Parts: sequence; structure tokens; C-alpha cells
Amino acid sequence: MDGTFNENDLSRVVEADRAHIWHHLIQHKPFETNDPRIIVEGKGMRVWDQKGKEHLDAVSGGVWTVNVGYGRESICKAVYDQLMKLCYFAQSAGSIPGAIFAEKLIKKMPGMSRVYYTNSGSEANEKAFKMVRQIAHKKYGGKKTKILYRDRDYHGSTLAAMSAGGQDERNAQYGPFAPDFVRVPHCMEYRKHELDGAPDENFGEWAADQIEAVILREGPDTVGALCLEPVTAGGGVIEAPEGYWQRVQEICKKYDILLHIDEVVCGVGRTGTWFGYQQYGVKPDFVTMAKGVASGYAAIACMVTTEEVFDMFKDNADDPMNYFRDISTFGGCTAGPAAAIENMRIIEDENLLANCAAMGDRMMGNLRALMDKHKVIGDVRGKGLFLGAELVADRATKEPVNEKLAQAVVADCMAQGVIIGVTNRSVPGKNNTLCFSPALIATADDIDQITDAVDGALGRVFG
Ligand code: PLP
Repeated sequence: MDGTFNENDLSRVVEADRAHIWHHLIQHKPFETNDPRIIVEGKGMRVWDQKGKEHLDAVSGGVWTVNVGYGRESICKAVYDQLMKLCYFAQSAGSIPGAIFAEKLIKKMPGMSRVYYTNSGSEANEKAFKMVRQIAHKKYGGKKTKILYRDRDYHGSTLAAMSAGGQDERNAQYGPFAPDFVRVPHCMEYRKHELDGAPDENFGEWAADQIEAVILREGPDTVGALCLEPVTAGGGVIEAPEGYWQRVQEICKKYDILLHIDEVVCGVGRTGTWFGYQQYGVKPDFVTMAKGVASGYAAIACMVTTEEVFDMFKDNADDPMNYFRDISTFGGCTAGPAAAIENMRIIEDENLLANCAAMGDRMMGNLRALMDKHKVIGDVRGKGLFLGAELVADRATKEPVNEKLAQAVVADCMAQGVIIGVTNRSVPGKNNTLCFSPALIATADDIDQITDAVDGALGRVFG
């Protein structure tokens, strides 16, 4: 891998990109003076851009996706072989890789039973929302349609998923949203001072009790589900505090509320276990996943649920309305499950969950050491190889740094050949949390290279 390419073709690609591509989640104004970045090749932890520059990718394809790294021949081969055999058939019929992957997946998820294939995380979440609504009609006479979601969480870009979106920067100007989605407060220890009445002790339980307060305000007989990220991703890399999940589970049970865990980011190894919720002893009714399921080698997402939920849709076959009247066309692509089977094999055979946990600990240690050195780091947090460092102008007030400075840190790392991210998305214009999610194959040297780059960048940007 030397990053060689045909100069002329690539300048044509840049021209075509500049003329016709609408890039995701960024402003285009800078492209008037700078070239858009084109990523040309990838191998292992590294990618090469159109100028042949090598980058260590500390964000797994930008958004927590390429969990097993780039250039995996065995996944490409599995996809090729499957596509030659059968590329597609609608999921009203089954497929060989679809059935095999579902069985393997369910073995990793005790208590879960049924897999519904879709093609994006947003869509997987919407499937669960639709099921909750249908259950409300079938079982509760049209009540229990409300879906609770948490401040700072994100569940996707489609309008119903955004209706469950707790990040104001993403939601502003896209309303009105779908009815019966109700927000509950965040559970972020570092910013608990923003929550009225938050205690110094037992904050986790208190934060979960705020969910109960919302349920009581809305009326328990109107609330069908609670949707949460196990570790909040785009909202600032937030792990719930001690005591939170146990109370959440108790509350859901008490009020007969289905628990929907959005594992789109955490799922398939990112936190050091197969699923994030498994770190906290939670028993969900719905689990949605996408990004790491096939590490980006093919588009695949799914909504996984229990046999109990499945059974609600299967009784009384004489009723022509009694089934989940839903389809996802590309949920029938076989490339996704074919890639996912091989992705899972790699994680197992290469012991990547253990590597993720060990390298996550190393990275956390490095970030904590940086915190001692750079007072602009107010907090470091996360789980496994899913970490964040929040930058603040003042440790006492926790005022976020100007977003442009956080962006300058990202740009400095990029100049050093390390791609990191910045997020928050909860408060418009206040993206102040550096985020790191290297592939699960990261070595100690990779981790040190990432945190050394951040060290240098913080020194240059903040002095
Ligand atoms: N849920 C979470 C937690 C996410 O972070 C994302 C995307 O970043 C989604 C859902 C939406 O997934 P997709 O972009 O595949 O629709």
C-alpha cells in the first residue's frame, strides 16, 4: 500500500466532487478555497487521501463504523461469492446469509429472538417505533403510543427518528416533528449542574427517577416505550452513571414500558462487549444496530426483538391486519448479512473484544494524563474504544470552548496525519467534545500516536 494513484484522474474526481457532491453534515463554504477531501484507499487502521497523504483513522470511517479495519479481503470475498450466488430477494422470503447471521447474532444476545433487517440505523429505529405504535393499538386500545427519548441522544436522520432526537443542533429548523415523542432529561454527570435539583450523591438513580417523573406527568397508560443509547455518542460520548440502568429497568417494568436500546454505535464490539447494554445488565425489548454490524463493507442494519414482542404480531391469522405491515426493500440485500457473518468471525477469531477493552483502557489512561497537562480538557469519558474529551474554557464554570478552537484541534491532528472527530450536537454551535473511536484492531502504538497528536494539537491551539 503506497497510496499511488493517477494524478489526472484524481483531480477530475475532485472537480466532479466540487461540482456535484453534497457532503454530509458539513458546511460547503470552505470548499470554495480548499479542495474537498477524497479518501481513496484504506488498509488496517490507515487511509490515504487524494494527495497520497496517509492518515491514522481514529474514528473508524468518521462515524464509528469500520470496526475491523480497512482492506479485509475475507469480507470482500464473502460478499463477492454471495452476490454471485444471489444478490437480492425481498425479505418476505428468507436468504441463506440472512438466516445464518440472525442465528449467530441471537446467540450473542440472550433473551432476544427475532431479527428484522433494514438498511440504516434510522430506519431500524423507526421499525421499533412503528412496532410500539402498533402494539399500542393492538394491546392497549390506542393508548401507550408515547415514546420517551433522552436529551442529548440521537436516533437518526429521518423525521420520526428526529422526533426522538435529543440534540438541538441537529433538530433546529427541521420541525415540526411527529407527535407523541417526549423528552426526558440527560444523565450526564459532568453537566449535572444544568439539571434543576441534581444531587451530589446518587446522581445515577436520581437521573433515572427523572424519567419516572415524566412518565407520571404524561400518564403511565400513555407511554409505550423508552428509547436510549447505552453510551450516548454524538451527544458528547456519555456513559450513564452508576445506579442509572438498574433504576431504568425497574421503571420500565413497573409501568409496562418497552425498553428500546439503540446500539447503532455501541453494537458489535465498540465498548468491549458485543453490545453496550450488556455492560449494564439491561434486558431490552428492542435493540437496533447498524454501523459496526458489517464494518461498512456492506450496508446492513437491523432491529432485534424478543419472542414475546414477535408473538403479539402473530396471533389470530384470520385478522388480515394482524402482522407488521412494513418492508425495507434493501433489507433483502444479501451482501449485508454475508459481510456481517465474516465481520463477526473476525472479531471472534482475532479476539477483538478483549483488544478493544485493553486498548480502550490504554487510551483512557493516556487521555487522563493529557487532562493533567492541558487544563482545557474538562472531562474524559467513554467505554472501550469509544471515548471523548470535553474541552472547556474554564474548568470551574465548564463553559464549552469556542467550537472553532475545538475544530482547530481536529485540523491540527489532521495535519499530523491523525483523523479525530468533534461532537456534542446538543447545544447549537457548542461542539466541544473531541471523540475517538479507532478500529477494534488498534495497537498500543496506534493509540499512543493518536493521543500524542492530540497532545501536540492542544499545545499549539491553547498554548
Ligand atoms: N442511532 C445512533 C446512536 C447514531 O449515532 C446514528 C448515526 O450516527 C443513528 C442512530 C442513525 O444511523 P444511520 O445514519 O445509519 O441512519
